[in-house]
Amino acid sequence: MPNANAFPKNPSSIQVLPRELAEKIAAGEIIERPGSAIKELIENAIDANSRAIRIEIEDGGRKRIAVSDNGHGIRYAEVPIALERHATSKIQKLEDLWNLSTMGFRGEALPSIAAISRFTIETKTADQEHGRLLYFEGGRLLKDEKTLADGGIIAHGTCVTVEDLFFNVPARLKFLRSKNSESAFIRELIERIALCNPGIAFHFFSEGKRSLNLQPASIERRVAAIFETDPEEIETVESLFEQTQIRGWIDRNARVSNSKQVYLSVNGRMVRDKLLQQAVLMGLRPRMMEGEYPKIYLDVQVAPEEVDVNVHPAKAEVRFRRSRDVFQLIYGALEKLSQTPTRPFYSASLPASAQTPSSSDAPFQSRLSLPEQSVFKTKSDFEPRPASTASGAISETPRTTTKVAEDRDLASEFSKLHYIGQLKNTYLLFQDAEGLVLVDQHAAHERINYERIKSDFLESGLKPQPLLISAVVKCKAEDVALALENVESFEKLGFEIEAFGDNCILVRSAPVDLPAERANELFSSLLSELKDSESKEIMATDPSRLSAKLERMLSTAACHGSVRAGQSLSPNEARELLKSMDQTPSSLNCPHGRPASIRMTYSQIEALFKR
Ligand code: ADP
Ligand code: MG
Repeated sequence: MPNANAFPKNPSSIQVLPRELAEKIAAGEIIERPGSAIKELIENAIDANSRAIRIEIEDGGRKRIAVSDNGHGIRYAEVPIALERHATSKIQKLEDLWNLSTMGFRGEALPSIAAISRFTIETKTADQEHGRLLYFEGGRLLKDEKTLADGGIIAHGTCVTVEDLFFNVPARLKFLRSKNSESAFIRELIERIALCNPGIAFHFFSEGKRSLNLQPASIERRVAAIFETDPEEIETVESLFEQTQIRGWIDRNARVSNSKQVYLSVNGRMVRDKLLQQAVLMGLRPRMMEGEYPKIYLDVQVAPEEVDVNVHPAKAEVRFRRSRDVFQLIYGALEKLSQTPTRPFYSASLPASAQTPSSSDAPFQSRLSLPEQSVFKTKSDFEPRPASTASGAISETPRTTTKVAEDRDLASEFSKLHYIGQLKNTYLLFQDAEGLVLVDQHAAHERINYERIKSDFLESGLKPQPLLISAVVKCKAEDVALALENVESFEKLGFEIEAFGDNCILVRSAPVDLPAERANELFSSLLSELKDSESKEIMATDPSRLSAKLERMLSTAACHGSVRAGQSLSPNEARELLKSMDQTPSSLNCPHGRPASIRMTYSQIEALFKR
């Protein structure tokens, strides 16, 4: 009931907003910060078929932004029209939106930027003798000049200068970050756009200093330039399903601490998309340690009618008609790539004096940050192992043809190794014709369990393994309630639970064969993960969208069910472990990304002994 004293006042009368005010509000949706203006101006330059684009900023773009291009320019008579709201040369009818080949289409950027800055546009087409210069302040036209061919800027092209952005929207100014963080944002933005447009040169100057100098290049070279690495370090992945194609370029040995360098584009348009990003990170997870992220650029090409680009004011998000298929395609291809890691065995790190030169019959040199002497022999008769049910289930919808770059299929068959013995009850030692192999028994077993658990889960949920002695988990009353609310989800994970008094839960079965105290530990850690609503939802809905959270749960389960370091194994058990390693994709790394095996060639050993 509304408070009687707070009786509503008489309504204000309804009025159409003054044009200037309406424009400022609309502009604010598109232009949030200097970077957003730059994004629009660069996109216009790209749409105009420019081969080179130059961007300058002062004071993080607040004081001055200049974007000049050598594109086709705007016809003399049409320059004022380009500054009118909803004026565009790019679409004519609504259906065109579904068949877009340009970056822009709304016809809002130029008038929006002009409404909230001191704005100059100078432009000229190749076939016209004169160019034209318009100057606006807060959207009001103050200058309109004919520019001469020689006195003007260029043979053809456009230069837009934006000074004092937001000078008439002071509220907006307060939201801007420091000069340095605005500049960093702009540089990153230019890099993102440059990745999608390797054929265009980008020159970026910040506070009078050159910050980026990107010459037209092949996509591999452009990616390498942005990732600041050698083109040879770039690994490619490609996959096709029906009309949808993905192509990815990965810096094979880069590991960074956040996901900022996961670059995504759809039909050449940079996007931020949680789903795509998740597909990428999950697919590459087997290669990453906890907290590590890849450097990757991934482009998705879909039929234009499969994607709606008109869902975000700055066009940074898109919507797919069949987002699940796109997810599966990306995840499937990257997971497959991860199963054949760049380095089949980690090479032992040897002292510098033990370096051996690479010989021609040992073509593979690890690019890992390990010393250069890591030399492996290629097994030319190597056949990829059959994919496990896990990846089969994952890629069940689209059948993909994945092409991964070569020089990776070097894994050797573990079960052919000859068992020597156990070291420190922790490492298993094996030998073969090429040398010594050390296997970390816990890491290896963990990977095997993880893949099995994951494939079981994807197929039918995890099968409960009854515990010999039920575990009693002590917890808070609210946690008891949370657990009981999720009985079914836990069942899917192989846990049969019931209430046991007000502050305890009885765990009768677990997804892997465990002693009671370990089942207790595992259940408690899953329960605390569940406090995050996201994991609850994913667990309940679509297991094939196995989220990072859930994967972590599965790897926790795998970890708890694995042989520990310090546990003695019989030769038979050791051989069994190796056999399972052969049947397990990505068996070379544990789910936390640690290596499961290390190889030392005889020549490396000989070098150590200076023979
Ligand atoms: P949109 O890009 O959505 O069409 P804009 O307001 O960004 O809308 O630009 C309006 C029009 O001005 C464009 O459709 C294009 O014809 C023209 N234009 C803008 N910038 C340039 C440029 N750098 N070179 C050539 N033409 C341009
Ligand atoms: Mg535009």
